[in-house]
Parts: sequence; structure tokens; C-alpha cells
Amino acid sequence: MYKFVNRNDDSTVYSAVAEVLTKRNSEWLCVQKDSARFHLMLGEINKLPFARLGHGQGMNPLVNYYRGSGRLCRKTALVKTLQEYCSNCNKDPFQIIPPTYYLYPKIADVPMESGNSLKAVKMRSMQNKTDEREAFMKCYHKMKENKQGDVWIAKSTSGAKGEGILISDNPQQLIDYIDEQKQSHVIQKYLEKPLLLNGDRKFDIRCWVLLDHQYNIYLYKEGVLRTASDPYKPQDYSDTTGHLTNHCLQEALSPNFGKYEIGNEMFFDEFNSYLQDRYQTEMEESLIPQIKEIIKESLYSVQVHISTEGLSYHSFQLFGFDFMVDSDFKVWLIEVNGSPASAEKLLPGLSSAIVTVAIDPVFPPQNESEDKEQTLFQKLN
Ligand code: ADP
Ligand code: MG
Ligand code: MG
Repeated sequence: MYKFVNRNDDSTVYSAVAEVLTKRNSEWLCVQKDSARFHLMLGEINKLPFARLGHGQGMNPLVNYYRGSGRLCRKTALVKTLQEYCSNCNKDPFQIIPPTYYLYPKIADVPMESGNSLKAVKMRSMQNKTDEREAFMKCYHKMKENKQGDVWIAKSTSGAKGEGILISDNPQQLIDYIDEQKQSHVIQKYLEKPLLLNGDRKFDIRCWVLLDHQYNIYLYKEGVLRTASDPYKPQDYSDTTGHLTNHCLQEALSPNFGKYEIGNEMFFDEFNSYLQDRYQTEMEESLIPQIKEIIKESLYSVQVHISTEGLSYHSFQLFGFDFMVDSDFKVWLIEVNGSPASAEKLLPGLSSAIVTVAIDPVFPPQNESEDKEQTLFQKLN
């Protein structure tokens, strides 16, 4: 019988995974959180005891996160990771993400009374770091001259849910805004001409991606568009619900939430019908190939840093990749989430597919059925 520890208290996906395992009650036993012997640990992203995993256990346990995946999932780290990787293989990182520069706030002074708290030390260390503000200014002017637009978006490195975002065509305003903050930020080219639903509403695309213990990459075939409730007015950057498609912002701020799609979610079937009707194409033809390439490049870019090959434990991880599409049907990576929630409708299928693809091959079920269960995960490499 295999044993698993469930230390995850905050992920609906891993709660569902734990339930799938528990239902196979002759195979998996959920043991106490502090148990020293287990095959699988379902932990919380920031609280995993990586350094202790697999030592003195007599077996290599499997854990549901890759140590170091923050290199992909924090916004400043993502741009650095892609820059480094692309420079080694002569690729352009700004074909994967829109042109992006990282900035550290120029904090005038960290008050003495902050003492040597971790926060104060972190802030003082940022004061002396060089950042990319000059490179940003150069790119801003070049793109403006080339008529490629002059609108940029500032986002904090670990920001989420659309909080702390500024969109502006004034570069000094963006820099000043960041200099007032306490965290590193990115300034990213704003996609000024997104593909719009029915010609007027913005959306982004969430795809679920599973990385197994051998660094095989799988894309879940079902995904979701998160749609805006209100029309996109290019010049009116303060109109949050026209510009930022985050579910929580749409729900909190727009009276039109849910008016066009239930919960502002459009699943791939419906989007495909829309693409057929309006553009005589479908995702598989015009978007999915680009999405697959971006996912592979992104995960290859961190492979040397996060691979668990040769370590005393194995990892797997589910990622949420968020994309936008511009009016030329080019796909852009917007961010990678290291601990994504699932759309409610997809949760049962997704959680049991995670077990089939990422857990069963490491700890094979004893009474394995003849034909392996089919899942919606498609292998990309
Ligand atoms: P968060 O972690 O806060 O969700 P995101 O990077 O996903 O940060 O940005 C929030 C939203 O802002 C996205 O869902 C998208 O609607 C919009 N957005 C982000 N970056 C861009 C961009 N470069 N161009 C156009 N819209 C963007
Ligand atoms: Mg986010
Ligand atoms: Mg987001």
C-alpha cells in the first residue's frame, strides 16, 4: 500500500487529487502530516521541506511542486529566465512574452526604525541593484517611432488578481509609480490591439500544463477564456474591467459580470465555434501550435535550474499558463501560475488526470486495468 501526506490546505486541485487517491482505498493511505515515511507528499507551494525530502526514508518520494519554479512564476524572474535561455540559443524572448523590463523601486531611504527586519534588508539591497529602466526607455522610444504603440503596463513581480497594475503611455509615470512601491516590478509592452470577442471584449486564455517527474510536458486539451464584461476602449486605461480580464476584478467591479458568458468563462468548444463562424479557423489550427511552442520553450528555459534528476526525491507540478492573442492571431505569454486553481467544470477530469499521468507511473496501481485510462493530457515533448 502506498502512503501519502496531505499538507495542502489551500489548493482545490490538490484536495481533489487527495480525494481521488483516497477513493482507491486498497492502494493509497493518507498518513499524518508529520509522518516520516511516505511515497507522495501533496504540500503547499511555499512550505515544502525540499531539503529533507527523501533523506533517511529508504525511498524517493514524489512531491507536487518543483523547487525553483518561481523562476517561471514570478514576473521579474520570468523575464530574466527567458532572456538568459534565449541568449544561449539565439532566440528572441520578446517573441514569447511582449517586450518586458524589470525595475527595482528607487527607495529614497529605508527608515532606521525598520532596523534589520527581513523586509528592511531586502529593500536596502534593492536600492543598489541596477535595473533595466534605461533599456525600457530606449525600447519605449524605438517602438513609438516605429509606430508599434506607446502603451505599457507595470505589474509587481508577485502581484496577482490584477492588483497593483498601472497602464500608461507616459514612461515617466510608469517609472515613478514603480519607484513608490516596495517590490520589484516589470514594465511590459501593452498589447494594444488584442483579438476581441465580437469585436469589442478582451479575453485571456488559461491552459493547464502538467510537468511530470521525468520532465515530460503535457497540455490539458480543455482550457478556458476569461472574458471581460465591458467593451475595450483603447484610450481609456482607467477602465479596469475593459482592460484587465481577471475574474475577481470583473466580478467585483462590473455590473455586466456573467452577462455574456456564465462566470465570464468561455470554454474551448464555444470559442472554436466562434472562430469558425467569424474567422473560418479554429484553435487547433491557428492558436494551439503557438501555445505548445511557448509552453515548451518556457519549461525548457528553467529545466537546468529545477530538474530533480539525481536528487533524493522527484517532483511533478501543474502550471497555469495564461496567454493573450493579438489581432494578427499571434499568441503571447502573459504569466505562469505555479499553483493554479481549476475551472469548476474541469476539476473532476483534471484531478483524476493528474493522478493518471503524474502519480500512477511512479507508483503503479497494483490492480492496473488492461487499457490505460485515457486523459485529456496531451504530451508535448
Ligand atoms: P496578475 O498576476 O495580476 O493576474 P497579469 O500579468 O495576468 O497579472 O495581468 C492581469 C491582466 O492584465 C491580464 O489577465 C490581462 O487581461 C491584462 N494584461 C496583462 N499584461 C498585458 C499586456 N502585456 N497587454 C495587454 N493586457 C495585459
Ligand atoms: Mg497572476
Ligand atoms: Mg493573471
